[in-house]
Amino acid sequence: MFRGRETPPGQPLKGWVENLLGLFYPERCLFCKGFIERKEEAIREFLCFSCAAYYKPGGKICPHCGGFFRDHPPCACLEDNPDEMPLRALFTISLYDHRWREVIHDLKYRNRRSAARILGFWLAGEITGGGYCHPDLVVPIPLHRLKEKERGYNQSALLAVHAAKKLNIPCQYLLIKHKETASQTAISRLDRRENVREVFKSTGAIQPGMIILLVDDVYSTGSTMKEAAAVLHKEGAEVYGAVISYNPGTLTLKKTGFYEGLDRW
Ligand SMILES: [Zn+2]
Ligand SMILES: [Zn+2]
Repeated sequence: MFRGRETPPGQPLKGWVENLLGLFYPERCLFCKGFIERKEEAIREFLCFSCAAYYKPGGKICPHCGGFFRDHPPCACLEDNPDEMPLRALFTISLYDHRWREVIHDLKYRNRRSAARILGFWLAGEITGGGYCHPDLVVPIPLHRLKEKERGYNQSALLAVHAAKKLNIPCQYLLIKHKETASQTAISRLDRRENVREVFKSTGAIQPGMIILLVDDVYSTGSTMKEAAAVLHKEGAEVYGAVISYNPGTLTLKKTGFYEGLDRW
């Protein structure tokens, strides 16, 4: 019945198509997977009203000390030696807990690829809302080609594609993971840096001065993100990171005072 009908001026085609799809496939809550009935009551439309009570928001994180910072002033670590840190700041939409663990495992291991659209859009909102970083390009953290073949997809690339779409900028692989590694979650926090040393190389398409948003699913010690950022930074890019969830160790939480101040964020 819609064939041949013109899209009204100023109203993109995908807008009403998405609305129509929404009637048949209403959004499901990321945590409990129940349908979100009344979107106006849900946090950012992605969590139902009861699950939203458990949501711990993220924000901007200093990659050096692991603490949260606001726009003014930024973390003192960044003011001291901004050029020495390949990763300028990290954006996250949440603090990691068992609910986010399930969301990420669904996306990563249980083929719930539909969550990538929601999470990518949410992540993009975090970037534009902060007004702190204006990227030219979104770049996913790559998987080794054998790992990607085995899984069938790279969850970080799915997130990156949707975030880029919402930010209205391109998404491009600028890194290759040329060494297979043990899963970071399978080894101790102390050994993770060594595990990812020199595992990434550039595709050679980096333009000096580019502002790049590197996308991954989780940030824990930051070893993977920092290693990838170092390759891009070495070729002249300014690099920011963005993840779904931040999982700081208890030591970092205590050191930064964040543990006690959870309610303030
Ligand atoms: Zn729910
Ligand atoms: Zn800091």
